[in-house]
Amino acid sequence: MVSPGESVLLVEDDDDIAAVIRGVLGNAGFSVMRVGDGRLVLRTLFEQHVDLVVLDVGLPGLDGFEVLQRVREATDIPVLMLTARTEERDKVDALMAGADDYLTKPFSNRELVARSIALLRRTRPARDAIEEISDASVEVDFVRRQVWAAGRPVELTPTDWNLLVAFVRRPGLVLSPAQLLELAWNDPSGVGSERVKFAVLRLRRRMGWTDPATSPIQSVRSIGYRYVPGGGSG
Ligand code: CA
Repeated sequence: MVSPGESVLLVEDDDDIAAVIRGVLGNAGFSVMRVGDGRLVLRTLFEQHVDLVVLDVGLPGLDGFEVLQRVREATDIPVLMLTARTEERDKVDALMAGADDYLTKPFSNRELVARSIALLRRTRPARDAIEEISDASVEVDFVRRQVWAAGRPVELTPTDWNLLVAFVRRPGLVLSPAQLLELAWNDPSGVGSERVKFAVLRLRRRMGWTDPATSPIQSVRSIGYRYVPGGGSG
């Protein structure tokens, strides 16, 4: 299964193909960002939370192999390569260059979704094993379950903690009340957005993030909430 809000960065220059892939992955529960130019990939990875890169080999400017090389130098995020070519050599090249998997066009929608989910499942333990996060707003020690805001230790209830973790693990991503219910309460069908709203208010208060102008937990009107380390600029 796809965890709520798991995000895919699709790198594909062809608008029609990109629209199809975006629809397929979106229907499977991923949130999908797309760039059409390989030169934008690294910047996007630094600015956005991305769980999986789906990378077309055939791109103008930088081709997929060059993009892959740059991604690999910067991060170990899983990469699924799409190749239009069927030669064995391209598959070998893709895997040797650090792709985690590949698909040859044309591929079925179901295969794309299955491969994407399998890749995320394979790499998730490593991502979940992260022991601490330290960013511009917070330090979180997952092993000791301790939190500091502006260098000050903060006492959190289990719900506060789950909610904070849901945010800090997904910087920049807009999370809906339904997604937060599933992530923090493990209750996607639970009664709703009021509960999330009050929990967010309480978490902001505990963390000292009550000023909307500077709070790292930002309200995104009629959609949900977004965690931005350092706050303010959203
Ligand atoms: Ca292409």
